[in-house]
Amino acid sequence: MNSPLPEPSRGIAAAAPAPRRLGPPVVALLLLALVLAAPLALGGFGVSLMNDMGISALVALGLVLLTGVGGATSFGQAAFVGIGAYATAWLSTAGGCSPWLGLPFALALTGVAACVIGLLTLRLGGHFLPLSTIAWGLSIPLIFGNMDALGRYSGMANLPALHLGTLSLGNPRAMYYLIWACVAFALWFSHNLLRSRPGRAIRGLRGGSVLLASVGADAFAVRLGLFVVAALFAGLAGWLYTYANRFVSPSPFDLRAGIEYLLMAILGGVGYLSGALVGSGLVLLLKDLLQDLLPLLSGRAGQLDAVVFSALFIALLHYARGGAMSFVARGLRRWRAPRPAPLPVEQAPVLPRRAQPARGEALLEVQGVSKRFGGLLAVDAVSFEVRAGEIVGLIGPNGAGKSTMFNLLTGVLPKSAGRVRLLGRDITALSQRRIARMGVARTFQHVKLRPAMSLLDNVALGTHARTRGGLLAAGLRLDRAQERQALREAAWQLRRVGLGGREHERAGTLPLGTQRVLEIARALAADPLLLVLDEPAAGLRRQERVALGELLRRLRDEGVTILIVEHDMDFVMRLVDRLVVMNFGSRLLEGTPAQVRADASVQAAYLGSADTAGTDAPRAPATP
Ligand code: ADP
Ligand code: MG
Repeated sequence: MNSPLPEPSRGIAAAAPAPRRLGPPVVALLLLALVLAAPLALGGFGVSLMNDMGISALVALGLVLLTGVGGATSFGQAAFVGIGAYATAWLSTAGGCSPWLGLPFALALTGVAACVIGLLTLRLGGHFLPLSTIAWGLSIPLIFGNMDALGRYSGMANLPALHLGTLSLGNPRAMYYLIWACVAFALWFSHNLLRSRPGRAIRGLRGGSVLLASVGADAFAVRLGLFVVAALFAGLAGWLYTYANRFVSPSPFDLRAGIEYLLMAILGGVGYLSGALVGSGLVLLLKDLLQDLLPLLSGRAGQLDAVVFSALFIALLHYARGGAMSFVARGLRRWRAPRPAPLPVEQAPVLPRRAQPARGEALLEVQGVSKRFGGLLAVDAVSFEVRAGEIVGLIGPNGAGKSTMFNLLTGVLPKSAGRVRLLGRDITALSQRRIARMGVARTFQHVKLRPAMSLLDNVALGTHARTRGGLLAAGLRLDRAQERQALREAAWQLRRVGLGGREHERAGTLPLGTQRVLEIARALAADPLLLVLDEPAAGLRRQERVALGELLRRLRDEGVTILIVEHDMDFVMRLVDRLVVMNFGSRLLEGTPAQVRADASVQAAYLGSADTAGTDAPRAPATP
């Protein structure tokens, strides 16, 4: 076995600040007092408006998560509100059950519907997904309107009231507290979720499925889970809607309502959980205002508010995509610079490590691997081996097939022929995610980080496959012990690569060289058997290159096995134990740096390649 890795002397665990938080506790307490006291100060109309706001805010909150964080736009959330509302209305009338039983029933039905719709549509890329949400956003209310059991277009009236023991929640003031308790719960749940293992994966969604698969996460499953959570918030809103109004009909759940919910999320700010509250408040107040004002302008005011909302939507997309909360946040920052939460030093147990092979053992065996892109044989029956504890370089002129080789090894591309074994196990046909989970961690030629996430969170994403726990546990904060372990690991890996003390900086603010080092820390957080680096020195300044070389050598001394593609010959010649040279897709030579440097065919290959000649041809490293 390799020598054990140096242990962090003290465990570091952190409540990592998710980039957008609700705000300091004092503000939260003030808000709470305000919400509790509001019904005492407001008239009946005001309380009803607040109830509508709370219900809409739940739906908008789902959209903040789904659209703002996850990057999937939905115009159809109102349909999920409808499913929740109709489910409980039907159960408590036709089924004769308690409205409270209607809650799990509404959530179950909404969840199942979201699973089915999600499985059918969430693989659609680009603008096809939003288009599909329009399809079900249109059709589900049509179904409500054509079912006899649901009262067709006249809906279902005289629904029973909710009761809490003998206390009736039939009046708006009583419903108010129930609604806002649900909103508070949903906010708390979402807040926890974003600062957790599944939350990091959700925040990683915009980085693409290859990024998530490289840390062992399944982007489709993550997106589906998020979609269901957003739908459940809408389903909960539907249940509340039914007992706040005691009447349901199809029109409040149609596509127009779906667009309004999206408008709320965008107007409030899709990057902020609190944007859901602000957005629903603004839209409902504006609607109310327009109802009073528009009749003064025109006799036919009924449809005019839609025109105003359309104009508002377009103006928002042009001038204020961040929504109202982005202005508030900017103002707050100016008033008081955000203080990152300190890293509370705390002894969290270390995450379990995988058994590492003995130094020199065959770790990766590549046998006759080929890749054909149409008529082009990009990789032609290449074989080589990587042994535990060594650094192997894969070099060759531009277009030689190095990146393709990496993509074949890591499962990003399927192989046309050949076999790959990892510690004797055949991984030829395994998916990228499975290969990552087996211990092959990689970085990318084009850096794949989440710029808005902190360094700590970016690296903690790398622990995904070493930890477990789903959305529910994360939302309910049942995952905190493990979360501390993951953050401790991330903090340690940051220190290991020389980025200690910068945990709370945002990845997007780092220079390219440091971003590449950060990617290495993320890969290390997976506790890999093999570290696969694609051109880590590209675009680095001389100083950064030297530091990177030192880091990689230190990692090798600690027992990390590295396979590296690199263009900078000085860099790679000084670093590696062995080299595999590729040219036109095939393996030209394998040997030590000295052997490669002396080989005439390698010289010819490089000198024959116009774009690398002179700069990248292998030559003796300058004496340090
Ligand atoms: P390197 O990383 O050594 O510069 P690549 O592996 O990126 O080379 O590319 C090898 C060859 O395969 C190039 O000719 C490139 O154009 C081709 N190639 C790479 N990826 C694809 C693809 N997805 N489809 C078609 N051809 C590709
Ligand atoms: Mg390449």
